[in-house]
Amino acid sequence: MQIQPDDIVFVLNPNSGNAIHPRQLTAICRAATEQAGRRANIITSRSPADAAQTALAAHEAGAAAIFGCGGDGTLSSILQGLPARSPTALGAVPLGTANVWAYETNLPMTPLAAVAAQLAALNGSPGEAMWIDSGRVWSTEADGSVGSQRFLLMASWGLDAAAVSGIAASDRRSRIKRMLGEPAYFFSAVQEAVGRKAWSIAYSLDGGPTQTVDVGLMTVGNTRMLGTWLEVNPRATVVDGELDLLMFRGAPWRALALSPFARHGWLPHGPGVSNLRFRRLEITPLGDPPPMQIDGEIGPTSAYAIDVEPQALRVLCPNPAAPVLGG
Ligand SMILES: [Mg+2]
Repeated sequence: MQIQPDDIVFVLNPNSGNAIHPRQLTAICRAATEQAGRRANIITSRSPADAAQTALAAHEAGAAAIFGCGGDGTLSSILQGLPARSPTALGAVPLGTANVWAYETNLPMTPLAAVAAQLAALNGSPGEAMWIDSGRVWSTEADGSVGSQRFLLMASWGLDAAAVSGIAASDRRSRIKRMLGEPAYFFSAVQEAVGRKAWSIAYSLDGGPTQTVDVGLMTVGNTRMLGTWLEVNPRATVVDGELDLLMFRGAPWRALALSPFARHGWLPHGPGVSNLRFRRLEITPLGDPPPMQIDGEIGPTSAYAIDVEPQALRVLCPNPAAPVLGG
């Protein structure tokens, strides 16, 4: 179906973690949208590239909003196609393994309530469509050209990315993920931490002096949570025009040992942990490049910089009082 101006576009990810029949989901999205007096345009995405293409088409057609029906990975795929500062707002129907964006912004977790609440926010009552920051990771492509990837939540180097890669590379760990959901990442991290040394890197913040450090984990957050368990950046907001960096010095097992303290804002004060804010981070590996993840998907090991795009993304926020939204 051709996308029309002011349409509400839904991108269905048939591979998302939670099982709901696509026909049932389509009916729910359509009903909630018509109830709000708008036109639903429902598109099944066959791949992340497909979702990105739909997002660009929605932007070009002047769609009012585009909803990712799936997990944070689905939102990330949409973000890759949505140009910075597009007036087409991003919404979420949380159906993934972790749904960190929905969790952090206090979205309703059932599809009907989630769509209804976000469409109300699009009309400004209750809630609002907010302009928020997004992050961008810069990397070198195989042919030497510059590539970039936007993120909504978090990018990280080291142990956490090794855990993500470990699940992707192992049938057994993938099975555990399907069975247990999010705890599978913790078990994968334990396996990856055994016997691993820290990664040496050089970095510079906002054009400042270059420093060297050995890290087991380095997270760059637009938002606060790594998964829905670990509050790594307790002070981060998506409206302050900066990203929050947390560096865990030493071997990966040290970062793992500190993870129980990722509640109540303790983590940034842990031994060997630094918490900094920046607008642009440049990084050069001094040995083997650390593995990287971007919004829960494996990222490029050739990444050399991350910067913030202030107020570059419009999102639907039924609960603007959520702390990560600056409320
Ligand atoms: Mg921020």
